[in-house]
Amino acid sequence: MDNWLLYILVVFAIGVGWLLGRRERQKRTETLGPNYYQGLNYLLNEEPDRAVAPFIEDLEVNADTLETHLALGSLLRRRGELEKAVIVHENILAHAELERDAMLQVQLELARDYLLAGLLDRAEDLLLKLSQRENQDIGSIRRDAHKLMLEIYEREKEWHRAAEIGELLAYGDESDKYERFNSHYYCEIAEDLLKRNRTEEARQCISDAIGHDATNARVSLLLGMLELAEENYPEAIRAFQRIRDQESVYVVESLESLQTAYEKSDQPMDTFRAYLYEALETTPSISIVLLLAQQIREEKGDEGVSRFIADHLKKNPTIRGLTQLIDLHIDNAHGVSKQNLFILRSFAEALVADKPAYRCNGCGFEGKRMRWHCPSCKDWGTIKPIFGLEGE
Ligand SMILES: [Zn+2]
Repeated sequence: MDNWLLYILVVFAIGVGWLLGRRERQKRTETLGPNYYQGLNYLLNEEPDRAVAPFIEDLEVNADTLETHLALGSLLRRRGELEKAVIVHENILAHAELERDAMLQVQLELARDYLLAGLLDRAEDLLLKLSQRENQDIGSIRRDAHKLMLEIYEREKEWHRAAEIGELLAYGDESDKYERFNSHYYCEIAEDLLKRNRTEEARQCISDAIGHDATNARVSLLLGMLELAEENYPEAIRAFQRIRDQESVYVVESLESLQTAYEKSDQPMDTFRAYLYEALETTPSISIVLLLAQQIREEKGDEGVSRFIADHLKKNPTIRGLTQLIDLHIDNAHGVSKQNLFILRSFAEALVADKPAYRCNGCGFEGKRMRWHCPSCKDWGTIKPIFGLEGE
């Protein structure tokens, strides 16, 4: 609604600007053109969309009116009216005798319209020309152009090109942010190479990813997968276990593969259990508890396992843990008790059935599967497993 009001105001401002310019001309002609009446008519009939074109045709583009044109262009874009935003920005470029920096700014806005409209080739052409200009003094415009190019390459999954641009952006205040991005671009390349069994090239990309951000837990996960594929089990275990010290919330993502690595290696399962107990201290995750329960069941029996899960649930209640506890009791129950436990179990399952398992720390986006790139805010490494009653 605020957008709508602002939009009417901008159109009104254009009308006023038009009127003022018109007054000057009126001194010569003493008449108002049909565009003005037409535009005003649309405005009065609350049809601001139709009012835009007549006013724009008559409102001269110059240094004084540029801001109004730009404001209208960006409002149209925010309203999703991309074709009209393109018309406004192209109109400025076609008519204006503006200073160089102002023209570059308008080209940037036009590239943004193309990008949002999905015209990626046109946006890329424009941005390449902008970023290749040799002027030393257009640093901030070039940086904005690079950021838009990054969005294009991310959308096209052109990870090598994204990494090239990411390198150019990784300095100053935003150095850490773009190094994190770069690390993920190399992870994307490595993941793709791993799928195609090109392990040596994947290893090189993983090493590049570490070079950009040594704290990126995804790199350890990928390295572990690579070592597992190469049957280097002790190395795989080392890589997976590094996640606990990098970002322990991601330990849950490695559990299945880590278990496989331990089972195939000649390392004692006691070491695996010790690692899980330690990981549980930093990350009270029900997935770790359930894996441990599975590991100690033979030794401690159903009763010991029930006690272990119940102790954890007292401190960190989760529905998944409750379901597991019910399962352990169902086997030993009879008659009505058994039936009631089944009812309770299906009730608990229904409670978490449609719940998301992951959430973005940046924008709150939620989903059922793990993603390293947030589809909503486009940040990298901000989606994490959800902890709490309905999650981990
Ligand atoms: Zn997000």
